[in-house]
Amino acid sequence: MSGAVHFPSSAAIPSRRTVLSAQGIPGDAAVPLRVAELVDEAFEIYADLVDPAGIRADVSIADFAVIYRGEGRNAPRTPLEAIFPDARRLTLFAVTVGEAVCGEILRRFSDGDPALGYALDTIASAGAEGLAGAMARDHQECLARSGTMASGMRVLPYSPGYCGWHVSGQGKLFEVLRPEEIGISLNESCLMQPLKSVSGVLVAADREVHQFDIDFDFCADCADQGCRERIQSVLDDTIGGQ
Ligand code: SF4
Repeated sequence: MSGAVHFPSSAAIPSRRTVLSAQGIPGDAAVPLRVAELVDEAFEIYADLVDPAGIRADVSIADFAVIYRGEGRNAPRTPLEAIFPDARRLTLFAVTVGEAVCGEILRRFSDGDPALGYALDTIASAGAEGLAGAMARDHQECLARSGTMASGMRVLPYSPGYCGWHVSGQGKLFEVLRPEEIGISLNESCLMQPLKSVSGVLVAADREVHQFDIDFDFCADCADQGCRERIQSVLDDTIGGQ
């Protein structure tokens, strides 16, 4: 299951609540009028410019082991190194909200409108994360349609730069995935261009394979512990009555 994946713009538009939360305003808090106006304006600009795209490529467990090792800079112990050997299927992926949005963010900052630039930046970051989730859901649905999604299997995305997988791992990932086809490249600092892009591996595995305890050294510095919500979503997911 490899190749470019097309998404509607709606797949890359995050909820207002997600964006406000990213700006430090929790769901039950009052939103200052100026912030609400900025976010509304930024959403309008974003919706006009977002141009989502994605690509994926299946890899064997043996090949992924080499990709994952990367430049040898991963943490000594990570969740993914214990998960991927038990996967039923591994698929490299990259998604982006497009260069137009990223260019507009830079333009707003350089033109002296940092507040709007910041609002646009938080929307684009949340949009790129949402797109990675959309890619995982699309992949899971494609596997289900092709009959290769066994009962109880779930797909979750894992990305370099998180949870012990060093960001330099993107080098080998890009060598195999070749996301330049959809306009994503990697610079010498391992930053993706467009900046609001996400790369990683889609792990299709039995539900319980995605579970782990957060007893890694790097977890002590992790504020949001996002893995807990991801794992819970997999455990709660009963699509198709599985
Ligand atoms: S607690 Fe944070 S750093 Fe640790 S595994 Fe979860 S998301 Fe990763």
